[in-house]
Amino acid sequence: MATCAVCKKNIQLRPENAFAPFCSARCRQVDLGKWLNEEYRIPSGPEEEEDPQVDLNGTNEERD
Ligand SMILES: [Zn+2]
Repeated sequence: MATCAVCKKNIQLRPENAFAPFCSARCRQVDLGKWLNEEYRIPSGPEEEEDPQVDLNGTNEERD
């Protein structure tokens, strides 16, 4: 028994299942989107994590 890589639903790998290894066209699309997002992240270079605290400090301190 195989499971859909996206929603973990049980699927049957049959020749007539055009969406294998996914359960539906929607899940196949979701997985495709994930791969595309990964590819877009690669050329961006080193990891840069945005620090949410920067935003908090900015709103707490009002310089006029
Ligand atoms: Zn699915």
